[in-house]
Amino acid sequence: MNFQSKLPNVGTTIFTTMSQLALQHQAINLGQGFPDFSPDPKLIGLVHEAMLQGHNQYPAMPGVPALREQISLKVNKLYDHSYNPETEVTITSGATEALMCSILALVRSGDEVIVIEPVYDLYIPAIELAGGTPVVVPMLAPDAQHGNYRVDWQRVRDAINAKTRMLVLNFPHNPTGIILTENDLDILEAIVADSGVFILSDEVYEHIVFGNALHCSMAKRSALIERSIIVSSFGKTYHATGWKLGYCLATATVMHEIRKVHQFTVFTVYSPMQYAMAQFLQDPAPYTELSRFYESKRDYLANGLKNSRFKPLLSQGTFFLLADYSGISTEPEAVFVRQLTVEHGVTAIPMSAFYQNPDAAESNHQLIRLCFAKENATLDAALDRLKEL
Ligand code: PMP
Ligand code: GLN
Repeated sequence: MNFQSKLPNVGTTIFTTMSQLALQHQAINLGQGFPDFSPDPKLIGLVHEAMLQGHNQYPAMPGVPALREQISLKVNKLYDHSYNPETEVTITSGATEALMCSILALVRSGDEVIVIEPVYDLYIPAIELAGGTPVVVPMLAPDAQHGNYRVDWQRVRDAINAKTRMLVLNFPHNPTGIILTENDLDILEAIVADSGVFILSDEVYEHIVFGNALHCSMAKRSALIERSIIVSSFGKTYHATGWKLGYCLATATVMHEIRKVHQFTVFTVYSPMQYAMAQFLQDPAPYTELSRFYESKRDYLANGLKNSRFKPLLSQGTFFLLADYSGISTEPEAVFVRQLTVEHGVTAIPMSAFYQNPDAAESNHQLIRLCFAKENATLDAALDRLKEL
């Protein structure tokens, strides 16, 4: 049967492609973002206990009330805004489902949605499925004064018009590792004031920010809360990406719409994990200590790379850093990461995969993304191989 694809430009994600290649060549996988260590045994014990206690049937559609309550308390403690657990917090199947449901619920045919490039892979296809038009605003590239990427707020401002429905943000940013400052929030507030623009804020790396910086959540600003949908993920925070447990926060009227999509996408998510997380969240230590934990891994990898011809860019957050390979090869990024896997046994993600046209010259900066959510022994083994280049 002949038919037209709704997403003709979408293939298998770069994360899956590179993980498969890593397996095939037994390469050390610093590509796809997942830890090679396990969640806290206590958390695993709580899931087991929840199952034994009989929490194995459908929980409430928006999520287990105790978990929504704990999330609300945590967000209030960290960002000083109280979301109503009844109406303003929904538990989702990872951040992925929260992002997709938010976009499908709010973006209408013909709406424009601004995304910032480099851009996480699911935003543009989700916007297209909703019938919207993605408007891509590039970041400012590193230069003599600035060692890393920056948001070009002027271009964001210029991109907003009467058709703009939503602005998608992701800070700490995958893949550049940049974070927002209070000054960025000031600018953002001014840009969206008096507009009807929603902000979809993907904050999955909220607990991984370095150098004593504090995460600048949209929840910190009352002027942004009313228009924001904040998305987070337990996968990143608790070393459990395979559990696919996340959540979103929004005002009751917006959440009402998001839940309409959520209930017909998954209806609700895994009961025992939710009960376990509701208990585990009561101890703030795992998430308050996470930044230090990952900062030392970032430094470990970045320092190790100093003995190689890769030049790491400074990562301010997430569990990724970008490394410049211009001292090694002139190949485009997609070619280079394949060679790196096949010939040198280390897998990375090409930054160009975060561009709308990955093969274009403008999308290739001789940068690869390395994930440092790994045991030091894994990082050592990878560094030994990277130093050979
Ligand atoms: N957003 C960003 C920026 C991510 O990096 C990821 C996953 N690494 C996700 C969303 C998806 O999160 P989850 O696995 O919880 O669906
Ligand atoms: N978000 C993860 C990353 O950036 C991957 C998630 C996925 O494989 N879809 O590596």
